[in-house]
Amino acid sequence: MLMMCLGISGVAAAQEAVDLDMVNRIRQEAFHRSQVMATFSHLTENIGPRLTNSPQMAQANAWTRGKFSEWGLANVHDEAFDDFGRGWEFSNASVEMLGPRTLPLHALPKAWTPGTNGPVEGEAMLVTIKTVSDLDQYKGKLAGKILLLNEMRDYKRGVDADSHRHDEAGLAELQAFAVPSDTDKDRSKRIKEYAERQELARASNAFFVAEGALASLSISGWDNGIIRVGGGGSRKAGESVGVPALTMAAEHYNQLARALEREQVVKLRVNVQARFTDETDQPGYNTLAEITGSGRKAGEIVMLGAHMDSWHTGTGAADNAAGVAVMMEAMRILKAVGAKPHRTIRVALWSGEEQGLVGSQDYVARHFAAYPEPTDPKQKALPVSLRESTGALQKKRDYDRFSAYFNMDNGSGRFRGIYAQENLAVAPIFKAWLEPFNDVGATTVATRNTGSTDHVSFDRVGLPGFQFIQDRLDYFSNVHHSHLDTWDHIEAEDLKQAAAIVASFVYNAAMREEKLPRKPLLEK
Ligand SMILES: [Zn+2]
Repeated sequence: MLMMCLGISGVAAAQEAVDLDMVNRIRQEAFHRSQVMATFSHLTENIGPRLTNSPQMAQANAWTRGKFSEWGLANVHDEAFDDFGRGWEFSNASVEMLGPRTLPLHALPKAWTPGTNGPVEGEAMLVTIKTVSDLDQYKGKLAGKILLLNEMRDYKRGVDADSHRHDEAGLAELQAFAVPSDTDKDRSKRIKEYAERQELARASNAFFVAEGALASLSISGWDNGIIRVGGGGSRKAGESVGVPALTMAAEHYNQLARALEREQVVKLRVNVQARFTDETDQPGYNTLAEITGSGRKAGEIVMLGAHMDSWHTGTGAADNAAGVAVMMEAMRILKAVGAKPHRTIRVALWSGEEQGLVGSQDYVARHFAAYPEPTDPKQKALPVSLRESTGALQKKRDYDRFSAYFNMDNGSGRFRGIYAQENLAVAPIFKAWLEPFNDVGATTVATRNTGSTDHVSFDRVGLPGFQFIQDRLDYFSNVHHSHLDTWDHIEAEDLKQAAAIVASFVYNAAMREEKLPRKPLLEK
């Protein structure tokens, strides 16, 4: 087996050995015998969107378990996280303008909101509700109405290209670290805003039902007909799910709002078929599988993962069947090339990511470490990232056996490097690991943090958790959480490249003499 040192400056890098024979085999398998698109296609086109706890998410759990078993992985299983809430699905949605003229309008339902139980017809009415006290003025006025919840919005003409890959300047810019400003002030503001939003949503849901409103419409956050829609109502059994609620394409919504401004009577027909698939709150499920290590380090763990759940109107393609297909492909490649890692390599396909990293956070708490649960119900209602300190970190046995976690969830774009997450000691190691992939565009190690996805669940408890730098493509212009998040926006070559790099990174992490270095834990 050929072991060689790559010519990277710095003492640590000079000592970081990379098994180029193994990297060669990984690249051959990843580039010439790839199955990443077959996996991706099945998840997006055969199964479709995978809202957490929906029947399609259960199908995805079962299908991925089957694939892992077929590829010869060990310990293939689902692991539950408690009390996520109810499952939900929709099968149809239509909104029509019946007057002053007829027109089909483009709108899709928010997840966890009720159906209309057949077509309903009513007049559109614009309401302005920014705080709970704004509800009072509408008492006795909403019966039989279809509510427009937002003001009209000016069309935003695009100035940038829709799709975007990093150039040298962009990658150089990513390597600058911004010293944090006074983040605490922002944090208390964020907590206040979060609590207020939650309270307003709960109060509005109950109020609209009590007043007999028929449905509500919100404007899509993006223009150009793109419907960008997440959740509404409530996934928790026993809470008000409100009235049927849909998000409408901005250009259609604005037509309605302008007609109302002209004081025209706007008559609409809404028909939504949607249902909760459970009566009571259910656990969610992550899917896990392993290549078991061998020798004295077999009890140590290297992890890779991506979230398998998605929003419900596209097919959850870039967010995040792409990540799931890449992580699965990395495991398939390692088996195919006959890798015999020292440490155990464990893949996790998370659920509940879109609702606040619920699946990965629960998994980390059960297996590695957690801060004590708050007792104050107000604190408990906040996402973990916004809670006040509840005391010292409580570590489990596997905390000290853990090396690193690698995540993919920034769309489907090619890997251009990795964020070191303020862990300076891993930077030269990652530079050495990236060198055999410099020729396919992956060169950059940025010291900065990146957030908003499942590696944060590890990072928060002081475990090395990383997310790759990816080309953005049209992720944040067309695709993210929109009904256009489909197969079409993906490039097969990008997924092949990413799978090769992930397979190589986790193999290197599993074989290296030491576990990956940790940065000091910032105790909350
Ligand atoms: Zn995502």
